[in-house]
Amino acid sequence: MSEVKAYGAADPKADLKQINIERREVTPRDVKIKITYCGVCHSDIHTVRNDWGGSKYPVVPGHEIIGKVLEVGSEVSDFKVGDTVGVGCMVDSCRECESCKHDLEQFCEQGMVGTYNGKDKHLGGHTYGGYSEEIIVDKYYVLSVPENLDENAVAPLLCAGITTFSPLNHWKVGKGDKVGVIGLGGLGHMGIKFAHAMGAHVVMITTSPGKAEDAKRLGADEVLISKNEEAMKKHANSFDFLLNTVPVGHDINPYLSLLKIDATMCMVGAVEPLEPVHGGSLIMGRKNVAGSLIGGIKETQEMLDFCGEHNIVSDIEMIDINTINDAYDRVVNGDVKYRFVIDMESLRN
Ligand code: NAP
Ligand code: ZN
Ligand code: ZN
Repeated sequence: MSEVKAYGAADPKADLKQINIERREVTPRDVKIKITYCGVCHSDIHTVRNDWGGSKYPVVPGHEIIGKVLEVGSEVSDFKVGDTVGVGCMVDSCRECESCKHDLEQFCEQGMVGTYNGKDKHLGGHTYGGYSEEIIVDKYYVLSVPENLDENAVAPLLCAGITTFSPLNHWKVGKGDKVGVIGLGGLGHMGIKFAHAMGAHVVMITTSPGKAEDAKRLGADEVLISKNEEAMKKHANSFDFLLNTVPVGHDINPYLSLLKIDATMCMVGAVEPLEPVHGGSLIMGRKNVAGSLIGGIKETQEMLDFCGEHNIVSDIEMIDINTINDAYDRVVNGDVKYRFVIDMESLRN
């Protein structure tokens, strides 16, 4: 075992501060990574603040990890020392169940092992994430990063990227579709970029009129202010697909009225109770509400390769780790353009 520096929270009310954590020895299947950048996902904040219950402390968040390979185990041939690699939201799963066999490790029947707050099979206790100097991960869960992408801005693809790419891909969004992305934050801004690159007509649906110009720059063809009832009426029954990234429970009925017959709204944001859904909102138009959780490892690599081809990265604000607590408050207030990424050198210095 080796000790590395990390940033963690001791309880739901505590600020994150520097702590030391243990990392395991490199086993034959492992890749040891020096973390260079780590994105700040709203899920990090939900976990630190125990919004979903069940958080284990200290929480060391971070599941949008980019780094350089420092060492590989004897059975690792796909990665070599010095490679730029990524790690997303999972670091293990059973690899044997139906979900795992179908490249849907996020739905592993034994439970996937989260990059943080998962059950650590090696050291016992729980896993610690990317707000740390180094991480050691089984080769199967390590991703290759296309060389042409700007390394500073690639980390958020590992969660915000795959979480939006996967449902757009699954529901086969493409040319001729009118797609709405609800909520312009970390996930939402990637949703616009992907839907645009897939050829859809993209509408940014936001509560923040001030984000309209950015939405268009990111690839939206139109902007719809969800609080404007008149504007919402004009778009009634017109969408082929909606991607809902709102991070809290809310009233989805107004959004359902935007869907065409048979169309789907996929929830990725609110992992908590929603306000009651009126049966009529679904029945009148045979509409669907669905959900989606990140994406499997194979699809995550496909997403990264798609980003390589289309030169897609995140719009980021780089921060030093000692400003992380302020950054959290800004994310909660919807004030981030559009993903914070921590320069992990700031933890080493
Ligand atoms: P974020 O950066 O905070 O963005 C969320 C955006 O939603 C905000 O910028 C805001 O956009 C809008 N919003 C916030 N509060 C709202 C409210 N009360 N009503 C309507 N809109 C509201 O968060 P994120 O990192 O994108 O994450 C979004 C959610 O997805 C989080 O809950 C996170 O835990 C979850 N998540 C899920 C998965 C998954 O696999 N399903 C993966 C990653 C994250 P506007 O200003 O444009 O309205
Ligand atoms: Zn995330
Ligand atoms: Zn499994």
